[in-house]
Amino acid sequence: MRVLLVYPQFPKTFWSYEKVLELVDRKVLLPPLGLVTVAAILPQEWEFKLVDQNIRPVQVEEWQWADLVILSAMIVQKDDMQDLIVRAHNYGKPVLVGGPYPTALPEEMRAAGADFLVLDEGEITLPLFVEAWKKGERSGEYRSEGVKPDVTSTPIPRFDLLDFSAYDSMSIQFSRGCPFQCEFCDIIVLYGRKPRTKTPEQLIKELNYLYELGWRRSIFMVDDNFIGNKRNVKLLLPVLQKWQEERNYPFAFTTEASVDLAQDQELLDMMVACRFEAVFLGIETPDADSLSLTKKYQNTRDSLSDAVDQITAKGIRVMAGFIIGFDNEAPGAGQRIVEFVEKTGIPSAMFGMLQALPGTALWFRLEKEGRLLNNNAGGNQTHLMNFVPTRPIEQIAQEYVDAFTHLYEPHVYLKRIYRYYLKMNAPSLNMKFTMPDLIDLRALATVIWRQGVKRSTRWLFWQNIWGILRHNPAVLTNYLLSCAHNEHFLYYRDIVKQQIEFQLSAGQKEEVAV
Ligand code: SF4
Repeated sequence: MRVLLVYPQFPKTFWSYEKVLELVDRKVLLPPLGLVTVAAILPQEWEFKLVDQNIRPVQVEEWQWADLVILSAMIVQKDDMQDLIVRAHNYGKPVLVGGPYPTALPEEMRAAGADFLVLDEGEITLPLFVEAWKKGERSGEYRSEGVKPDVTSTPIPRFDLLDFSAYDSMSIQFSRGCPFQCEFCDIIVLYGRKPRTKTPEQLIKELNYLYELGWRRSIFMVDDNFIGNKRNVKLLLPVLQKWQEERNYPFAFTTEASVDLAQDQELLDMMVACRFEAVFLGIETPDADSLSLTKKYQNTRDSLSDAVDQITAKGIRVMAGFIIGFDNEAPGAGQRIVEFVEKTGIPSAMFGMLQALPGTALWFRLEKEGRLLNNNAGGNQTHLMNFVPTRPIEQIAQEYVDAFTHLYEPHVYLKRIYRYYLKMNAPSLNMKFTMPDLIDLRALATVIWRQGVKRSTRWLFWQNIWGILRHNPAVLTNYLLSCAHNEHFLYYRDIVKQQIEFQLSAGQKEEVAV
Protein backbone atom coordinates (compact mmCIF):
# COMPACT_ATOMS: atom_id res chain seq x y z
CA MET A 1 0.00 0.00 0.00
CA ARG A 2 1.57 3.32 -1.13
CA VAL A 3 0.40 6.50 0.53
CA LEU A 4 1.17 9.97 -0.79
CA LEU A 5 0.82 12.61 1.95
CA VAL A 6 0.42 16.11 0.53
CA TYR A 7 0.39 19.40 2.46
CA PRO A 8 -1.47 22.18 0.60
CA GLN A 9 0.05 25.56 -0.05
CA PHE A 10 -0.47 28.52 2.30
CA PRO A 11 -1.23 31.98 0.92
CA LYS A 12 1.25 34.65 1.99
CA THR A 13 0.57 35.56 5.62
CA PHE A 14 2.22 37.50 8.43
CA TRP A 15 3.79 34.22 9.51
CA SER A 16 5.08 33.07 6.11
CA TYR A 17 8.28 35.11 6.63
CA GLU A 18 9.46 34.61 3.01
CA LYS A 19 12.03 37.39 3.17
CA VAL A 20 13.53 36.01 6.38
CA LEU A 21 13.57 32.46 5.04
CA GLU A 22 15.42 33.63 1.93
CA LEU A 23 18.16 34.95 4.21
CA VAL A 24 18.74 31.56 5.84
CA ASP A 25 18.24 29.61 2.61
CA ARG A 26 15.09 27.84 3.86
CA LYS A 27 11.78 27.54 2.04
CA VAL A 28 9.23 27.17 4.83
CA LEU A 29 8.99 28.11 8.49
CA LEU A 30 7.46 24.91 9.88
CA PRO A 31 6.78 21.34 8.69
CA PRO A 32 3.35 19.61 8.55
CA LEU A 33 3.40 17.96 11.98
CA GLY A 34 -0.15 16.64 11.47
CA LEU A 35 0.79 14.64 8.37
CA VAL A 36 3.92 13.09 9.89
CA THR A 37 1.80 12.10 12.90
CA VAL A 38 -0.80 10.57 10.56
CA ALA A 39 1.99 8.54 8.90
CA ALA A 40 3.04 7.26 12.33
CA ILE A 41 -0.51 6.19 13.26
CA LEU A 42 -1.17 4.29 10.00
CA PRO A 43 0.16 0.70 9.57
CA GLN A 44 3.95 0.86 9.40
CA GLU A 45 4.13 -1.82 6.69
CA TRP A 46 2.54 0.75 4.34
CA GLU A 47 4.93 2.92 2.29
CA PHE A 48 4.85 6.71 2.62
CA LYS A 49 6.00 9.72 0.64
CA LEU A 50 5.39 13.28 1.76
CA VAL A 51 5.22 16.36 -0.45
CA ASP A 52 4.87 19.81 1.07
CA GLN A 53 3.47 22.02 -1.68
CA ASN A 54 4.99 24.99 0.11
CA ILE A 55 8.36 23.57 -0.94
CA ARG A 56 7.55 22.12 -4.36
CA PRO A 57 4.57 20.78 -6.32
CA VAL A 58 3.73 17.07 -6.53
CA GLN A 59 5.43 15.41 -9.52
CA VAL A 60 3.56 13.28 -12.09
CA GLU A 61 5.44 10.11 -11.04
CA GLU A 62 4.43 10.72 -7.41
CA TRP A 63 0.75 10.92 -8.31
CA GLN A 64 1.14 7.75 -10.41
CA TRP A 65 3.01 5.95 -7.59
CA ALA A 66 0.27 6.41 -4.98
CA ASP A 67 -2.55 4.01 -4.09
CA LEU A 68 -4.05 6.64 -1.78
CA VAL A 69 -3.60 10.39 -1.40
CA ILE A 70 -3.90 11.94 2.07
CA LEU A 71 -4.41 15.69 2.50
CA SER A 72 -4.53 17.66 5.73
CA ALA A 73 -5.12 21.40 5.96
CA MET A 74 -6.21 24.43 7.92
CA ILE A 75 -8.95 26.67 6.53
CA VAL A 76 -6.39 29.15 5.26
CA GLN A 77 -5.11 26.42 2.87
CA LYS A 78 -8.55 25.66 1.43
CA ASP A 79 -7.90 26.81 -2.17
CA ASP A 80 -4.96 24.51 -2.74
CA MET A 81 -6.67 21.68 -0.82
CA GLN A 82 -9.64 21.75 -3.20
CA ASP A 83 -7.35 21.93 -6.21
CA LEU A 84 -5.35 18.91 -4.96
CA ILE A 85 -8.51 16.80 -4.63
CA VAL A 86 -9.29 17.47 -8.30
CA ARG A 87 -5.73 16.69 -9.37
CA ALA A 88 -5.60 13.41 -7.42
CA HIS A 89 -8.90 12.35 -9.00
CA ASN A 90 -7.54 13.23 -12.45
CA TYR A 91 -4.90 10.55 -11.80
CA GLY A 92 -7.63 8.17 -10.64
CA LYS A 93 -6.46 8.19 -6.99
CA PRO A 94 -8.77 8.03 -3.97
CA VAL A 95 -8.40 10.97 -1.59
CA LEU A 96 -8.55 10.99 2.22
CA VAL A 97 -8.88 14.38 3.92
CA GLY A 98 -8.44 15.35 7.57
CA GLY A 99 -7.22 18.13 9.83
CA PRO A 100 -8.82 21.35 11.07
CA TYR A 101 -10.35 22.48 7.75
CA PRO A 102 -12.24 19.24 6.87
CA THR A 103 -13.25 18.85 10.53
CA ALA A 104 -14.72 22.37 10.66
CA LEU A 105 -16.32 22.36 7.20
CA PRO A 106 -16.95 18.73 6.12
CA GLU A 107 -19.69 19.86 3.70
CA GLU A 108 -17.04 21.64 1.61
CA MET A 109 -15.00 18.44 1.44
CA ARG A 110 -18.04 16.39 0.41
CA ALA A 111 -18.80 18.97 -2.28
CA ALA A 112 -15.17 18.80 -3.46
CA GLY A 113 -15.54 15.02 -3.87
CA ALA A 114 -13.15 13.75 -1.17
CA ASP A 115 -13.53 9.96 -0.83
CA PHE A 116 -12.70 9.60 2.85
CA LEU A 117 -13.37 12.23 5.50
CA VAL A 118 -11.29 11.27 8.55
CA LEU A 119 -12.26 14.01 10.98
CA ASP A 120 -11.51 15.09 14.55
CA GLU A 121 -8.34 13.58 16.05
CA GLY A 122 -6.62 10.88 14.01
CA GLU A 123 -5.68 8.64 16.94
CA ILE A 124 -9.36 7.64 17.07
CA THR A 125 -10.57 8.03 13.49
CA LEU A 126 -7.60 6.76 11.44
CA PRO A 127 -7.87 3.19 12.86
CA LEU A 128 -11.58 3.22 11.86
CA PHE A 129 -10.54 4.16 8.32
CA VAL A 130 -7.83 1.46 8.19
CA GLU A 131 -10.33 -1.18 9.24
CA ALA A 132 -12.80 -0.03 6.56
CA TRP A 133 -10.07 0.16 3.88
CA LYS A 134 -8.91 -3.38 4.66
CA LYS A 135 -12.50 -4.56 4.25
CA GLY A 136 -12.50 -3.07 0.75
CA GLU A 137 -14.54 0.07 1.41
CA ARG A 138 -13.55 2.93 -0.90
CA SER A 139 -15.37 5.83 0.70
CA GLY A 140 -16.53 6.80 4.18
CA GLU A 141 -16.70 9.36 6.92
CA TYR A 142 -15.29 8.84 10.40
CA ARG A 143 -15.80 10.98 13.51
CA SER A 144 -14.81 10.50 17.11
CA GLU A 145 -18.26 11.57 18.38
CA GLY A 146 -16.92 13.80 21.14
CA VAL A 147 -14.34 11.31 22.45
CA LYS A 148 -10.86 12.83 22.85
CA PRO A 149 -7.88 10.51 22.53
CA ASP A 150 -5.30 10.04 25.24
CA VAL A 151 -2.20 11.57 23.60
CA THR A 152 0.14 9.50 25.78
CA SER A 153 -0.37 6.74 23.21
CA THR A 154 0.36 8.94 20.18
CA PRO A 155 3.35 7.46 18.35
CA ILE A 156 6.54 9.40 17.56
CA PRO A 157 5.84 11.40 14.37
CA ARG A 158 7.57 10.14 11.22
CA PHE A 159 10.01 13.09 11.10
CA ASP A 160 12.13 10.98 8.72
CA LEU A 161 9.64 11.79 5.91
CA LEU A 162 10.52 15.50 6.03
CA ASP A 163 13.12 17.31 3.93
CA PHE A 164 15.01 18.93 6.82
CA SER A 165 16.92 21.28 4.52
CA ALA A 166 13.71 23.14 3.61
CA TYR A 167 12.48 24.08 7.10
CA ASP A 168 13.60 26.82 9.43
CA SER A 169 12.19 25.15 12.56
CA MET A 170 10.82 21.74 13.49
CA SER A 171 7.48 21.31 15.26
CA ILE A 172 6.64 19.12 18.19
CA GLN A 173 3.55 19.01 20.37
CA PHE A 174 3.29 18.40 24.10
CA SER A 175 -0.38 19.16 24.72
CA ARG A 176 -3.74 19.62 23.02
CA GLY A 177 -6.61 21.73 24.33
CA CYS A 178 -6.85 24.88 26.45
CA PRO A 179 -8.77 25.55 29.69
CA PHE A 180 -9.97 29.02 28.61
CA GLN A 181 -13.08 29.96 26.68
CA CYS A 182 -12.28 32.77 24.22
CA GLU A 183 -15.38 33.19 22.08
CA PHE A 184 -13.52 33.28 18.73
CA CYS A 185 -11.21 30.32 19.37
CA ASP A 186 -11.50 27.07 17.40
CA ILE A 187 -8.84 25.23 19.45
CA ILE A 188 -11.30 24.52 22.25
CA VAL A 189 -13.82 23.32 19.64
CA LEU A 190 -11.31 20.94 18.05
CA TYR A 191 -9.40 19.79 21.13
CA GLY A 192 -11.57 20.64 24.12
CA ARG A 193 -11.02 22.62 27.32
CA LYS A 194 -9.28 19.88 29.26
CA PRO A 195 -5.64 20.01 28.14
CA ARG A 196 -4.23 16.55 27.44
CA THR A 197 -0.46 16.18 27.56
CA LYS A 198 2.10 13.65 26.46
CA THR A 199 4.45 12.21 29.08
CA PRO A 200 7.90 13.78 29.56
CA GLU A 201 9.51 10.50 28.42
CA GLN A 202 7.39 10.52 25.27
CA LEU A 203 8.43 14.05 24.37
CA ILE A 204 12.07 13.25 25.05
CA LYS A 205 11.81 10.29 22.65
CA GLU A 206 10.57 12.69 19.97
CA LEU A 207 13.49 15.04 20.64
CA ASN A 208 15.93 12.12 20.59
CA TYR A 209 14.58 11.09 17.22
CA LEU A 210 14.99 14.61 15.79
CA TYR A 211 18.48 14.76 17.26
CA GLU A 212 19.43 11.35 15.79
CA LEU A 213 18.11 12.45 12.40
CA GLY A 214 20.54 15.39 12.57
CA TRP A 215 18.21 18.29 13.35
CA ARG A 216 20.09 21.13 15.10
CA ARG A 217 18.01 24.25 14.55
CA SER A 218 15.12 25.63 16.58
CA ILE A 219 11.93 23.87 17.61
CA PHE A 220 8.44 25.29 17.80
CA MET A 221 6.34 23.67 20.52
CA VAL A 222 3.06 24.00 18.62
CA ASP A 223 0.70 23.65 21.61
CA ASP A 224 -1.88 26.40 21.37
CA ASN A 225 -1.39 27.02 25.04
CA PHE A 226 1.79 25.34 26.30
CA ILE A 227 0.89 26.14 29.92
CA GLY A 228 -2.73 24.94 29.70
CA ASN A 229 -1.84 22.13 32.12
CA LYS A 230 0.78 23.78 34.33
CA ARG A 231 1.21 20.76 36.59
CA ASN A 232 2.26 18.51 33.72
CA VAL A 233 4.43 21.21 32.12
CA LYS A 234 6.31 21.48 35.40
CA LEU A 235 6.89 17.72 35.30
CA LEU A 236 8.24 17.99 31.75
CA LEU A 237 10.58 20.96 32.14
CA PRO A 238 13.17 19.47 34.56
CA VAL A 239 13.51 16.42 32.31
CA LEU A 240 13.84 18.66 29.27
CA GLN A 241 16.42 20.84 31.02
CA LYS A 242 18.57 17.79 31.81
CA TRP A 243 18.31 16.55 28.21
CA GLN A 244 19.35 19.95 26.88
CA GLU A 245 22.26 20.33 29.33
CA GLU A 246 23.66 16.91 28.45
CA ARG A 247 23.79 17.89 24.77
CA ASN A 248 24.89 21.53 25.12
CA TYR A 249 21.38 22.91 24.43
CA PRO A 250 21.05 21.85 20.79
CA PHE A 251 17.51 23.24 20.44
CA ALA A 252 16.11 26.73 21.06
CA PHE A 253 12.38 26.54 21.76
CA THR A 254 9.51 28.85 20.90
CA THR A 255 5.92 28.29 21.95
CA GLU A 256 2.49 29.88 22.50
CA ALA A 257 1.04 30.54 25.93
CA SER A 258 -1.69 32.45 27.71
CA VAL A 259 -0.63 35.70 29.44
CA ASP A 260 -1.01 34.19 32.91
CA LEU A 261 2.46 32.74 32.23
CA ALA A 262 3.79 36.05 33.60
CA GLN A 263 2.26 35.32 37.02
CA ASP A 264 4.22 32.11 37.46
CA GLN A 265 7.85 33.07 38.03
CA GLU A 266 8.85 29.48 38.79
CA LEU A 267 7.46 28.30 35.47
CA LEU A 268 9.19 31.14 33.61
CA ASP A 269 12.52 30.27 35.24
CA MET A 270 12.08 26.63 34.30
CA MET A 271 11.34 27.55 30.67
CA VAL A 272 14.37 29.81 30.50
CA ALA A 273 16.53 27.01 31.90
CA CYS A 274 15.36 24.76 29.03
CA ARG A 275 16.28 27.45 26.48
CA PHE A 276 12.82 28.73 25.59
CA GLU A 277 13.76 31.88 23.70
CA ALA A 278 10.42 33.28 22.51
CA VAL A 279 6.74 33.00 23.34
CA PHE A 280 3.66 34.06 21.42
CA LEU A 281 0.93 35.64 23.58
CA GLY A 282 -2.66 36.17 22.45
CA ILE A 283 -3.11 39.68 23.86
CA GLU A 284 -5.82 40.56 21.28
CA THR A 285 -6.59 44.10 22.48
CA PRO A 286 -5.85 46.43 25.37
CA ASP A 287 -9.62 47.28 25.52
CA ALA A 288 -10.92 45.60 28.69
CA ASP A 289 -14.56 45.71 27.51
CA SER A 290 -13.72 43.84 24.32
CA LEU A 291 -11.72 41.24 26.27
CA SER A 292 -14.68 40.62 28.59
CA LEU A 293 -17.15 40.50 25.72
CA THR A 294 -15.03 37.89 23.93
CA LYS A 295 -14.69 35.96 27.20
CA LYS A 296 -10.90 36.36 27.33
CA TYR A 297 -11.16 36.96 31.07
CA GLN A 298 -7.61 35.74 31.76
CA ASN A 299 -6.34 38.89 30.02
CA THR A 300 -8.36 41.22 32.26
CA ARG A 301 -6.98 40.13 35.64
CA ASP A 302 -3.60 41.85 35.62
CA SER A 303 -1.91 44.57 33.64
CA LEU A 304 -1.11 43.24 30.16
CA SER A 305 1.88 45.51 29.74
CA ASP A 306 3.31 44.32 33.08
CA ALA A 307 2.91 40.74 31.85
CA VAL A 308 4.94 41.52 28.70
CA ASP A 309 7.61 43.25 30.80
CA GLN A 310 7.87 40.38 33.28
CA ILE A 311 8.37 37.77 30.54
CA THR A 312 10.86 40.01 28.72
CA ALA A 313 12.80 40.61 31.93
CA LYS A 314 13.34 36.86 32.21
CA GLY A 315 14.96 36.83 28.77
CA ILE A 316 12.10 35.42 26.70
CA ARG A 317 11.22 37.47 23.61
CA VAL A 318 7.49 38.21 23.43
CA MET A 319 5.57 38.01 20.17
CA ALA A 320 1.92 38.93 20.40
CA GLY A 321 -1.33 38.70 18.46
CA PHE A 322 -3.82 41.57 18.22
CA ILE A 323 -7.35 41.70 16.83
CA ILE A 324 -9.49 44.60 15.74
CA GLY A 325 -13.23 44.52 15.10
CA PHE A 326 -14.80 43.24 18.34
CA ASP A 327 -18.48 44.06 18.91
CA ASN A 328 -19.18 47.48 20.45
CA GLU A 329 -15.53 48.46 20.03
CA ALA A 330 -15.10 52.22 20.29
CA PRO A 331 -13.48 54.03 17.33
CA GLY A 332 -9.71 54.31 17.68
CA ALA A 333 -9.05 50.65 18.58
CA GLY A 334 -6.24 50.50 16.02
CA GLN A 335 -4.51 53.48 17.61
CA ARG A 336 -4.93 51.99 21.10
CA ILE A 337 -3.20 48.80 19.91
CA VAL A 338 -0.37 50.88 18.41
CA GLU A 339 0.02 52.70 21.75
CA PHE A 340 0.14 49.39 23.60
CA VAL A 341 2.75 47.91 21.25
CA GLU A 342 4.82 51.09 21.44
CA LYS A 343 4.60 51.14 25.25
CA THR A 344 5.68 47.53 25.67
CA GLY A 345 8.06 47.57 22.68
CA ILE A 346 6.93 44.14 21.38
CA PRO A 347 8.93 43.60 18.18
CA SER A 348 6.61 41.14 16.36
CA ALA A 349 3.02 42.27 16.80
CA MET A 350 0.79 40.10 14.64
CA PHE A 351 -2.39 41.91 13.74
CA GLY A 352 -5.64 40.87 12.07
CA MET A 353 -9.30 41.73 11.71
CA LEU A 354 -11.65 39.51 13.73
CA GLN A 355 -12.88 36.47 11.79
CA ALA A 356 -15.62 34.06 12.83
CA LEU A 357 -14.25 30.54 12.46
CA PRO A 358 -16.83 27.80 11.79
CA GLY A 359 -17.98 25.96 14.90
CA THR A 360 -16.82 28.58 17.40
CA ALA A 361 -19.07 30.23 19.97
CA LEU A 362 -18.65 33.49 18.02
CA TRP A 363 -19.79 31.77 14.83
CA PHE A 364 -22.97 30.43 16.44
CA ARG A 365 -23.79 33.79 18.08
CA LEU A 366 -23.36 35.66 14.82
CA GLU A 367 -25.36 33.03 12.94
CA LYS A 368 -28.22 33.48 15.43
CA GLU A 369 -28.00 37.24 14.98
CA GLY A 370 -28.02 36.86 11.15
CA ARG A 371 -24.64 38.61 10.79
CA LEU A 372 -22.47 35.91 9.12
CA LEU A 373 -21.34 36.68 5.58
CA ASN A 374 -19.21 33.68 4.52
CA ASN A 375 -16.87 30.80 5.51
CA ASN A 376 -13.76 32.59 4.34
CA ALA A 377 -12.07 32.94 7.69
CA GLY A 378 -8.90 31.28 8.79
CA GLY A 379 -6.00 33.30 10.01
CA ASN A 380 -5.09 35.34 6.97
CA GLN A 381 -4.36 38.99 7.82
CA THR A 382 -5.31 40.24 4.37
CA HIS A 383 -9.03 39.39 4.57
CA LEU A 384 -11.86 41.67 5.59
CA MET A 385 -14.15 40.38 8.33
CA ASN A 386 -16.54 37.57 7.38
CA PHE A 387 -19.44 39.01 9.39
CA VAL A 388 -21.23 42.33 9.79
CA PRO A 389 -19.46 44.29 12.56
CA THR A 390 -21.11 46.76 14.94
CA ARG A 391 -19.26 49.76 13.50
CA PRO A 392 -18.63 50.55 9.82
CA ILE A 393 -16.28 48.05 8.18
CA GLU A 394 -14.54 50.91 6.32
CA GLN A 395 -13.65 52.51 9.67
CA ILE A 396 -12.27 49.26 11.13
CA ALA A 397 -10.34 48.44 7.95
CA GLN A 398 -8.81 51.93 7.78
CA GLU A 399 -7.73 51.77 11.43
CA TYR A 400 -6.26 48.33 10.78
CA VAL A 401 -4.26 49.41 7.72
CA ASP A 402 -3.09 52.61 9.45
CA ALA A 403 -1.98 50.72 12.56
CA PHE A 404 -0.20 47.99 10.58
CA THR A 405 1.54 50.56 8.38
CA HIS A 406 2.64 52.57 11.39
CA LEU A 407 3.91 49.63 13.45
CA TYR A 408 6.22 48.48 10.66
CA GLU A 409 7.39 51.89 9.44
CA PRO A 410 11.18 51.27 9.49
CA HIS A 411 12.12 54.17 11.85
CA VAL A 412 9.26 53.38 14.24
CA TYR A 413 10.16 49.69 14.18
CA LEU A 414 13.88 50.17 14.85
CA LYS A 415 13.21 52.61 17.70
CA ARG A 416 10.71 50.20 19.23
CA ILE A 417 12.96 47.15 19.12
CA TYR A 418 15.84 49.16 20.55
CA ARG A 419 13.71 50.14 23.58
CA TYR A 420 12.58 46.53 23.90
CA TYR A 421 16.05 44.97 23.85
CA LEU A 422 17.42 47.45 26.35
CA LYS A 423 14.99 46.09 28.93
CA MET A 424 15.44 42.41 28.05
CA ASN A 425 17.65 40.28 30.26
CA ALA A 426 19.80 37.67 28.59
CA PRO A 427 19.59 34.33 30.41
CA SER A 428 22.91 32.78 31.33
CA LEU A 429 22.81 29.17 30.25
CA ASN A 430 25.94 27.16 30.69
CA MET A 431 26.41 26.67 26.94
CA LYS A 432 29.72 25.92 25.28
CA PHE A 433 30.51 28.15 22.32
CA THR A 434 29.81 26.57 18.92
CA MET A 435 30.65 28.17 15.58
CA PRO A 436 27.59 29.46 13.72
CA ASP A 437 27.15 27.71 10.36
CA LEU A 438 27.99 29.38 7.06
CA ILE A 439 24.35 30.02 6.16
CA ASP A 440 23.76 31.93 9.39
CA LEU A 441 26.93 33.96 8.87
CA ARG A 442 25.83 34.81 5.32
CA ALA A 443 22.36 35.81 6.62
CA LEU A 444 24.01 38.06 9.19
CA ALA A 445 26.14 39.71 6.50
CA THR A 446 23.04 40.28 4.32
CA VAL A 447 21.10 41.86 7.20
CA ILE A 448 24.01 44.16 7.99
CA TRP A 449 24.37 45.08 4.31
CA ARG A 450 20.66 45.82 3.85
CA GLN A 451 19.93 47.45 7.20
CA GLY A 452 23.29 49.08 7.78
CA VAL A 453 24.16 50.27 4.27
CA LYS A 454 21.24 50.25 1.84
CA ARG A 455 18.25 51.45 3.89
CA SER A 456 17.51 55.05 4.79
CA THR A 457 17.39 53.89 8.44
CA ARG A 458 21.10 52.91 8.37
CA TRP A 459 22.18 55.58 10.88
CA LEU A 460 19.52 54.48 13.32
CA PHE A 461 20.55 50.84 12.83
CA TRP A 462 24.19 51.60 13.76
CA GLN A 463 23.20 53.96 16.57
CA ASN A 464 21.10 51.14 18.06
CA ILE A 465 23.93 48.63 17.71
CA TRP A 466 26.26 51.03 19.51
CA GLY A 467 23.70 51.57 22.28
CA ILE A 468 23.10 47.84 22.71
CA LEU A 469 26.83 47.10 22.79
CA ARG A 470 27.24 49.68 25.52
CA HIS A 471 24.22 48.89 27.66
CA ASN A 472 23.12 45.29 26.99
CA PRO A 473 25.53 43.47 24.64
CA ALA A 474 24.16 40.01 25.49
CA VAL A 475 20.99 40.73 23.46
CA LEU A 476 22.76 41.81 20.27
CA THR A 477 21.81 38.60 18.42
CA ASN A 478 18.16 39.15 19.35
CA TYR A 479 18.34 42.72 18.03
CA LEU A 480 19.83 41.51 14.73
CA LEU A 481 17.17 38.80 14.49
CA SER A 482 14.43 41.41 14.83
CA CYS A 483 16.18 43.53 12.17
CA ALA A 484 16.00 40.50 9.87
CA HIS A 485 12.27 40.21 10.59
CA ASN A 486 11.86 43.80 9.46
CA GLU A 487 12.82 42.64 5.94
CA HIS A 488 9.60 40.61 5.93
CA PHE A 489 7.33 43.11 7.68
CA LEU A 490 8.28 45.91 5.30
CA TYR A 491 7.20 43.83 2.36
CA TYR A 492 4.18 42.33 4.09
CA ARG A 493 2.64 45.62 5.28
CA ASP A 494 2.35 46.67 1.61
CA ILE A 495 0.50 43.43 0.81
CA VAL A 496 -1.92 44.09 3.71
CA LYS A 497 -2.59 47.66 2.57
CA GLN A 498 -3.10 46.75 -1.09
CA GLN A 499 -5.36 43.76 -0.44
CA ILE A 500 -7.55 45.39 2.20
CA GLU A 501 -8.01 48.52 0.09
CA PHE A 502 -8.78 46.36 -2.95
CA GLN A 503 -11.47 44.39 -1.07
CA LEU A 504 -13.00 47.59 0.29
CA SER A 505 -13.21 49.18 -3.16
CA ALA A 506 -14.60 45.93 -4.66
CA GLY A 507 -17.27 45.88 -1.91
CA GLN A 508 -18.19 49.49 -2.57
CA LYS A 509 -18.52 48.79 -6.31
CA GLU A 510 -20.85 45.87 -5.52
CA GLU A 511 -23.00 48.14 -3.35
CA VAL A 512 -23.21 50.70 -6.18
CA ALA A 513 -24.19 47.94 -8.63
CA VAL A 514 -26.97 46.73 -6.29
S1 SF4 B 1 -6.23 31.25 25.46
FE1 SF4 B 1 -5.76 30.95 23.27
S2 SF4 B 1 -6.01 28.74 22.90
FE2 SF4 B 1 -6.98 29.21 24.87
S3 SF4 B 1 -9.15 29.53 24.39
FE3 SF4 B 1 -8.15 31.56 24.35
S4 SF4 B 1 -7.51 31.87 22.19
FE4 SF4 B 1 -7.98 29.69 22.46
